[in-house]
Amino acid sequence: MTDDATAVRAFWEQLDLPGLFDAHVHFLPPNVQRAVWAVFDSAGPKIGREWPIRYRGTHEERVEQLRSFGVRRFPTLPYAHKPGVAAYLNGWARGFADDVPESLWSATFYPEPEAVEYVAELVDDGVEIFKVHVQVGEFDLDDPVLDPVWGLLAESSTPVVIHAGSGPVGNAFTGPDPLRRVLARHPRLVAIIAHMGAPECAEFLALAETHERVYLDTTMVFTDFFYPYPPNLLPRLVDLQRRVLLGSDFPTIPYPYAHQLEGLARLDLGDDWLRAVCWGNGARLFGVP
Ligand SMILES: [Zn+2]
Repeated sequence: MTDDATAVRAFWEQLDLPGLFDAHVHFLPPNVQRAVWAVFDSAGPKIGREWPIRYRGTHEERVEQLRSFGVRRFPTLPYAHKPGVAAYLNGWARGFADDVPESLWSATFYPEPEAVEYVAELVDDGVEIFKVHVQVGEFDLDDPVLDPVWGLLAESSTPVVIHAGSGPVGNAFTGPDPLRRVLARHPRLVAIIAHMGAPECAEFLALAETHERVYLDTTMVFTDFFYPYPPNLLPRLVDLQRRVLLGSDFPTIPYPYAHQLEGLARLDLGDDWLRAVCWGNGARLFGVP
């Protein structure tokens, strides 16, 4: 077993968990994955800094790495950066979910007229989670064309991971206001706010506190690589214990997987909090026994 795997397993074994539920993992079609990694490698304008990716294997190798870590459930979170590509990404993700039993069947959408049809079809067929990325896709979450899509997701209780925070580099579409407007219209939406909404952590935490189906994922937060989390918010994360989900951003991370877990442990919010975040909450939300 690799050192990375030994460190990860020690973390959850010590908490007496059956493994980890990681709510924020990416698998993309190989050609798209290469293009995304090239953007990170060049520290392009949406990245803004050096970002040496640690886990660069083939997708088969990366599935094996997650298994060796004891990550028992994970999504694949495709995201569309422009119109017309969601269907292709969704087709690939569907095949991946068929092949890899631990993965949550994932999909994406983009503000385009056909979105409501392909989302409705996926929901009918049993898709488990969606992802949208406002920082990369540069669109308004409250674009009117998406209104029926949010309605469908809320009605079917299908979770959607939303990268709406302005990290790592903000644009005109990021920040809490568009999501706040979506939630005002669709208060039953099961929204998982990626990266806890960093750097607008306080505003997104307040959205979770006022909407009982809004979750925060920990992706990259509390690591040495990321924005420092405001310490005055930590007591409120304890109160929100049932709606914080472990996320890692594997494989596109510049440090060993275990560093995310160390970041959570050193908050000192208690073993029950860690158990809820790293397993219980994800298992409950996605119906894992
Ligand atoms: Zn991500």
